[in-house]
Amino acid sequence: MMDTDLELTVDDTRCPSCFSTHFLGVEIFGVYDGVLYWECGDCGLRWHRFPSGHYLRSRADRYLAEPEPMPVREHVPL
Ligand SMILES: [Zn+2]
Repeated sequence: MMDTDLELTVDDTRCPSCFSTHFLGVEIFGVYDGVLYWECGDCGLRWHRFPSGHYLRSRADRYLAEPEPMPVREHVPL
């Protein structure tokens, strides 16, 4: 049963690759004032916080697609 509420909790969130609960919420300044996506602290996998079709998911796409972490984020025109 899908919960359509966007108030997502981290309680039942695990890395989809290694099932670690040691993950970080990544915030990109200039993109979204809050957690944009999750990043696993064990295997480094990044995965979406927002469900398919959500406007913030499409914004997170470019960051999830990057092969390496970028130390400096540029501000993205909204
Ligand atoms: Zn992982």
